[in-house]
Amino acid sequence: MKALFLLSLSLLAVVSSAQDFDFFYFVQQWPGSYCDTKRSCCYPVTGKPDPIFTIHGLWPNYNDGSYPSNCDRQNDFDAREIEDLEKTMQKYWPTLACPSSDGLKFWGHEWDKHGTCAESQLDQHSYFLSALNLYKKANILKALQDAGIEPDDRYYSVESIKQAIKRGVGFTPGLECNKDESGNQQISEVYLCVDTSGQEFIECPTFPRISCRKEVQFPSF
Ligand code: AMP
Repeated sequence: MKALFLLSLSLLAVVSSAQDFDFFYFVQQWPGSYCDTKRSCCYPVTGKPDPIFTIHGLWPNYNDGSYPSNCDRQNDFDAREIEDLEKTMQKYWPTLACPSSDGLKFWGHEWDKHGTCAESQLDQHSYFLSALNLYKKANILKALQDAGIEPDDRYYSVESIKQAIKRGVGFTPGLECNKDESGNQQISEVYLCVDTSGQEFIECPTFPRISCRKEVQFPSF
């Protein structure tokens, strides 16, 4: 009886520590495209972010395109866990929500909604650290600029944007677009895929729904 109990205990441990998603989307955003919309934006208390792609999030996903969310209400975001990362996060993961803030609310939202669904792989500190490390390895703006694609309000083909990122970063991205205040389609987010350890880029098993026209604007910021 005791052996059976121990066996079921250890089975339970295996099941609960097993990874329960298939891959991550690592999503970067162009702040210019977040801010020039009807909704507009507020710069963080630290000031206007640099004109670079910034982090939106690291999102556990399933191969069929669906994703888990808000997986553990018992493991809420705790700012004390990432005190050592805050300066770096303010630079590369700035909040643009209104009213202007320090970013803790945005990061807390990302952890509570997405991070908790990968807690079997990454605790809070390693979740945010993994995102920062991935960011260092995927310089989207440089990849685009190396191909002559600049945030200069001109239009570029989605194909040329994808190819430039593939060449510069090594993996084919998914792109998301939104509309500026006047209704022009613009590049807003770049999706790359990452293995379940949160460390290595992989080719995407599936891409998010395509929402870009053939030619899209790359607005200045
Ligand atoms: P998510 O809930 O992680 O899928 O992301 C969507 C939410 O994040 C929306 O409510 C967005 O308004 C918000 N969001 C996206 N980028 C930012 C940002 N830079 N700062 C604050 N909120 C953001």
